[in-house]
Amino acid sequence: MAKQSLQPSFLAAALLAWYPRHHRDLPWRHTRDPYAIWLSEVILQQTRVAQGLPYYLTFLRAYPTVQQLAAAPEAEVLRYWQGLGYYSRARNMHRTAQQVVAEFGGLFPDNYAGLLKLRGIGPYTAAAIASFAFDEAVAVLDGNVYRVLARLFGLHSDIAAPSSRKEFQAVADQHIPASAPADFNQAIMEFGAIQCTPAKPDCLFCPLQPSCWAFQHGQVALLPVKSKAKKARTRYFHYFVLRQGDRIYLRERREKDIWQGLYDFTLVETDVAELPADELVRHLDALGAAIDTSVAAEPSAAYRHVLSHQKLEARFHELPLTKALPDATLRDLGLRAYSAAEIEALPKPKLIANYIEQNG
Ligand code: SF4
Repeated sequence: MAKQSLQPSFLAAALLAWYPRHHRDLPWRHTRDPYAIWLSEVILQQTRVAQGLPYYLTFLRAYPTVQQLAAAPEAEVLRYWQGLGYYSRARNMHRTAQQVVAEFGGLFPDNYAGLLKLRGIGPYTAAAIASFAFDEAVAVLDGNVYRVLARLFGLHSDIAAPSSRKEFQAVADQHIPASAPADFNQAIMEFGAIQCTPAKPDCLFCPLQPSCWAFQHGQVALLPVKSKAKKARTRYFHYFVLRQGDRIYLRERREKDIWQGLYDFTLVETDVAELPADELVRHLDALGAAIDTSVAAEPSAAYRHVLSHQKLEARFHELPLTKALPDATLRDLGLRAYSAAEIEALPKPKLIANYIEQNG
């Protein structure tokens, strides 16, 4: 329940006055093209602006239209995405582009309800496209907006709980002006990103301070309420870098797991940091690999990589081969030998790309 009531026109006027003086100039704020807006929104989910910006420009350059993105091979899309993480976003983006082409004649639906019918487009992205491209008065709710609303209106519902969305959406929709929905949405998100930040918000110079419930009640640091995410589990990957001459064996990750569609080496996963010797022997036997033991080395130091709900600790075993892997192994494990140039073009998890960059 909101503990503070504000005139809708007051909040809109304050944000719309604040925005032109403070906002960052970003390329997607100069377009009304729903495709470009959608691209920017997909790229910026769970990504900082500075990190996402070059990816946005790269994707628009590589695929200036939704038709071109839809027609691209998935591996190429994943390669452009490399380094941005959360690869399911890239795969979903690609499929959504194909859906727009196949089912909507290459045109994005021009309203919120229609946009929600697209695969992978949830309420936030639909509201962003509907307001920025088509001037529909539907409020966006992202992490920044949740925080601003929680503090301004004294909303104490847990923002991590899906049930809170309705309450926040209702408050935001009450305040978005029909005359400037795009600017209001941009303004409130930017206000959260720059002024009403998670730590150390600039309350001293905030135009909303006299009306801000959290400020007036000394609860700025306590809002928004957000329950803690589950503790990340640690996974231990033991990779086998099988090299023959100047080629390395890699495989496409097809299983329903992290990094689907990306390429890595064959691996054994364990619950412990050290790979037990018998596991190593068993795996090498299964590979049918002829290892050149005269140059086989100790495993690498641990490479650590943090994902949203998992921590990865990977060690790499360099295994030079004296002859090619048997065909049956290649078939069973989906492995193939690639040259350095081919590997460069493959989409790879950052962890693998880093290892190859450092070890050739
Ligand atoms: S006074 Fe502080 S907490 Fe309240 S809206 Fe402004 S910056 Fe946010």
